[in-house]
Amino acid sequence: MASANKIKVKNPIVELDGDEMTRIMWALTKDRLLTPYLDMRTDYYDLHIKHRDDTDDGVTRDAADAILKHGVGVKCATITATQDRVAEYGLKSETKSPNGTLRSILDGTVFRSPIIITNIIPANRNWKRPIHIGRHAYGDVYANQEIRISGPGKAQISYIPDDGSEPVTKLIHRFDGPGIVQGIHNTDASIRSFAAACFTYGYDQKIDVWFSAKDTISKTYDTNFRNIFFEIYEADWKSKFEAANISFFYTLIDDIAARIMKSPGGLLWACKNYDGDVMSDMLASAYGSLALMTSVLVSPQGCFMYEAAHGTVQRHYYKHLKGEKTSTNPMAIIFAWTGSLKKRGELDGTPEVCTFAEKLETSAIESIESGLMTGDLVKICTHPETATMVNMVEFFDAVRNRLDSAVMSDV
Ligand code: NAP
Ligand code: MG
Repeated sequence: MASANKIKVKNPIVELDGDEMTRIMWALTKDRLLTPYLDMRTDYYDLHIKHRDDTDDGVTRDAADAILKHGVGVKCATITATQDRVAEYGLKSETKSPNGTLRSILDGTVFRSPIIITNIIPANRNWKRPIHIGRHAYGDVYANQEIRISGPGKAQISYIPDDGSEPVTKLIHRFDGPGIVQGIHNTDASIRSFAAACFTYGYDQKIDVWFSAKDTISKTYDTNFRNIFFEIYEADWKSKFEAANISFFYTLIDDIAARIMKSPGGLLWACKNYDGDVMSDMLASAYGSLALMTSVLVSPQGCFMYEAAHGTVQRHYYKHLKGEKTSTNPMAIIFAWTGSLKKRGELDGTPEVCTFAEKLETSAIESIESGLMTGDLVKICTHPETATMVNMVEFFDAVRNRLDSAVMSDV
């Protein structure tokens, strides 16, 4: 497309480049599907593992600050350093999980949604529409303290107020022998922003919001989550939800686990941190593949970071390095970009950017619906005998051809 005809993206998207196979798909997405059509500036941060190590993770913190400044970011998958990776890349140290660093700066809630494709049938035939997961991304077991109990003794939990008032101490357990103990926390401020983010998301998408916890057992901790959800719903959302004909529903986590199986979908399931970690992987797999799962972190300040739900696809990368053609699925990477473009367009008041992103999504979905797909999907599609398995580059070419026709039909 001649540069004068390219669609202008008014404000920058913060771009967080990453590692291994997703880095390869990232470059292909930009080269083949975005830059030919868009006049787009990005605020670029290279989160390649070597560069994070060289900058003592400063680049990750800078990227988070840039997202707070510009409001919209898109992140490629990144390696979380382990001892093996330190040796493989000659690193100074095991840098922290970049997702952990980003979430600790941005706070917020991670929303995950499956990409629905007509010839990829979910493992549960009742699910006709997406089940979105809203995962609280702060606290609980992810910021815990644990002690290995070596033998008989008393384990206690205590809170010492800064204002000098009386400390509160409770006995957790009197041990007769070895065992384990764990302390976890959350804050009212973070739970409030989690609840607000979930109601905002549900209202935005016009879908019901379900929240689950275990307040019958956890009478202080989980009851606090439940109470805050109800308080915020009653104060800020009840009338809006009723006008939009959507509802808020609270019940126990085990009750929801059973109900979700019978539900037709089309709802947001707000989950505490650990529940969301587990349930989002279960849903991704049941809807087809991790490569068909989108993910966005919504911060309390109203900033958005889009990413794929999967990792760097290391096994495919090693094949790629040997010169082999891999059939890696770029759908989640493409949708991370389209998600960020749609949000940018919405915030900038440039509907043509949103329309382009929707055309790109439709082109990618229709390629798969036409029977042309990567290896991970061939195994689970409705008619594998008529499907054509393509390699990653061939899949990009197929999407590009459809996108070209879709964009040209408007010219
Ligand atoms: P992974 O990258 O998600 O891949 C696990 C397996 O899932 C792959 O080997 C592949 O199965 C399949 N798969 C995932 N994405 C695919 C795609 N787009 N197309 C086709 N198949 C796909 O997880 P991992 O191998 O355990 O982790 C690799 C690295 O990613 C680690 O260094 C980890 O730290 C990092 N990681 C990053 C993030 C993030 O940045 N958000 C999240 C998770 C993990 P087959 O091999 O059977 O084809
Ligand atoms: Mg998980």
